[in-house]
Amino acid sequence: MTLLRSWVPGANDAGTDFPLNNLPLGVVVPPGGPPRCAAAIGDHVLDVAAAEAAGLIELGGPLLDRADWRPVMEAGAEVRRSLRAQVTALLEEGADRAAERFLLPRAGLTYQLPFAVAEFTDFYAGRHHATNVGTMFRGPENALPPNWDHMPIGYNGRASSVVVSGHGVHRPWGQLAGGDGPRLAQSERFDFELELGCVLGAPSAAGMPRAPISVAEAADCVFGYVLLNDWSARDVQRWEYVPLGPFQSKATATTISPWIVTAEAMAPFLGPPPERAVAPLPYLADAGDAFPDLSLEVALGAREVETVIARTSSRHLWWSFPQMIAHHSSSGCPMRAGDLLGSGTISGPDDGEQGSMLELSWGATREVLLEDGGRRRFLKDGDRVVLRGHARGDGYRVGFGDCAGTVLPAGERPGG
Ligand code: MN
Repeated sequence: MTLLRSWVPGANDAGTDFPLNNLPLGVVVPPGGPPRCAAAIGDHVLDVAAAEAAGLIELGGPLLDRADWRPVMEAGAEVRRSLRAQVTALLEEGADRAAERFLLPRAGLTYQLPFAVAEFTDFYAGRHHATNVGTMFRGPENALPPNWDHMPIGYNGRASSVVVSGHGVHRPWGQLAGGDGPRLAQSERFDFELELGCVLGAPSAAGMPRAPISVAEAADCVFGYVLLNDWSARDVQRWEYVPLGPFQSKATATTISPWIVTAEAMAPFLGPPPERAVAPLPYLADAGDAFPDLSLEVALGAREVETVIARTSSRHLWWSFPQMIAHHSSSGCPMRAGDLLGSGTISGPDDGEQGSMLELSWGATREVLLEDGGRRRFLKDGDRVVLRGHARGDGYRVGFGDCAGTVLPAGERPGG
């Protein structure tokens, strides 16, 4: 796949996350202006809401006027593909510049959640992460639970806790175990998780909600992808997670990138499944290339100095999103347009490839060194965590922009 050239400044630069091949979707807030649906292109965004109102984009009725991409998710994949084709035609090299007056410089914009999240489910599909955490919590003999090779396991999270990049996240209070019995305290082991998120759309105009969905059909339900930081209080998690899994330890906040990279933009970067020693049951059998190939990194900013503390690849996921969707809906659980699925933390096998502080500090037994001279076992108040990711084509890349959040001091003590 080669670069699709655009007349918009910055769009043909090899280093941009936002060439014409990408056209990710978000909701931007211009200085002093109301929020609006937009697509990122080079150093700018196209105000697609205004372009639709002016008649430059035609989707069979107004779908972009609500500062929320849910209507497009519900309208079906054909509408999303039509939008992409129309925006590409407006912005490609050689096009007349009728869309120029709807471009906004990206600098100075802030972001809102790109869509009203219907439901949030977080999976645990990173094999190295699951092995590392299992080794720390249960010992190396029981690292992977017996179900892990047979299905993508997960838990139902809270849509209400999903925030967009740029939001501060208060250190949570929680119940912690101790020698003298449990106590209510501020989490001392507050952590990030490097994850890929998948946003569901309807496969066709009449397609959602429904269940069950096969792996093959599920590929068509993928609207797009986001970067996702599943903030986690490890001390709360350790005390609460048996037998029902994580609860308050994961409920503080989940940060997503401002931009959704669409299924069409990601399609050239989907790769084959891992080599499996254990074949999944037929309803979870791999069906085609479904594993995004993204370079991922985590940066920790403290006192204005940023250190990249982890670099890895989304190729370390063991289950694909279509497999997660197929399993999630296998019980009859209806899936809806606007659902958000987290992949689970992505870690690789080597040093510096771990997508959480829990693993980087190996349960706080070693320190992560920062370029400002600081040392961390877990996150401190004031730390800014930035996830970045991109796929690489021939002379261009497709990325998400920064998925960032800053740890703020704990808020009000529960119970007063
Ligand atoms: Mn997670």
